[in-house]
Amino acid sequence: MKKVQDIGEFRLIDRIRRFLPSTPTVVEGVGDDCAVIRVFDHLMLVSCDLSVEGVHFRRDLTKPEDIGWKVAAASLSDVAAMGGTPLFCLTSLSVRDDTPVLFVERLYQGISNLLSRFGAVVIGGDTTRTDGPISIDVTVIGEVTGQRFLRRKGARIGDKLTVTGQIGRSACGLHALLNGPSAPGLTESHIGPKPRVLEGLWLSAHPQIHAMLDISDGLCQDASHLTRASGLGVEIDPDKLPLAPEQEEYCATHGLDSVKMTLQGGEDYELLFAMDSENAEEILHAFHQEFRTPITVIGEFTDAWPGVRVRGQKHPMGGFDHFSPTFAAPQDAAPAESDGAEG
Ligand SMILES: [Mg+2]
Repeated sequence: MKKVQDIGEFRLIDRIRRFLPSTPTVVEGVGDDCAVIRVFDHLMLVSCDLSVEGVHFRRDLTKPEDIGWKVAAASLSDVAAMGGTPLFCLTSLSVRDDTPVLFVERLYQGISNLLSRFGAVVIGGDTTRTDGPISIDVTVIGEVTGQRFLRRKGARIGDKLTVTGQIGRSACGLHALLNGPSAPGLTESHIGPKPRVLEGLWLSAHPQIHAMLDISDGLCQDASHLTRASGLGVEIDPDKLPLAPEQEEYCATHGLDSVKMTLQGGEDYELLFAMDSENAEEILHAFHQEFRTPITVIGEFTDAWPGVRVRGQKHPMGGFDHFSPTFAAPQDAAPAESDGAEG
């Protein structure tokens, strides 16, 4: 009998989809960062993210507040990726019965600390006992407040692949956490990511932005979701990657390949998007006027090949796949794009 590890996360989602009929009020179903549903004359966004002890966090390495913050950040980042505004969250928590009450309180403090930054609130949830690892799910409900929202599909030939912030920081932060060296700036990026909600809203208001998602599984993997959804390929220029000096220094000191960490590493929760090439300079300039967040063009879309190439070579490593022992299959293996309604 086939096991989930035999097919990987993305093909598993593809198979699940066969059991999920749609209705006309579903504007965008499984397969994007959020589901988009029409409620009267409003477009609402819904997404969830599950965090499991031993898979996403270790209690000996992470404070409860940070665990709560991060799982909420992952959910809110999916709303940011569509260019929406987060409004409400529901949480589902399973804990062992000997879990300290204080742990649960601090976990929710972390969730609230993040949501309050964006005026979002927890409106309910569920708690249950488990004999296994602790798990916490945050479901977010958001709203399309502007004229439009952004999907993963829509990139055009010649569009600039563009990213907010500095990427690769989270992967290096995780390396530091697991291996012991002190790298406070990088570990902070790993445990306390800041979803780019305001930036996402701004970008979605600009018609020159054609497609967008957030980087959760890794730059190459997430870029491949954009290319697959848009039926194009993309060339990433590794020399243009926005790498933090502290990341370069950390990688040099510890014998790591900084570019590789950035291409494969996930959980940066930065926005990755396709931007019209004709207006690129204007958009970059206007973004700089509005935000202190860096914004960098790192590649270009093409119809010359499918998938993601780095310096002309097909990049062998996709990124993070929950059911793959190491990394996902190459980008042209054609699994369905993930995330979305089922996280
Ligand atoms: Mg996402």
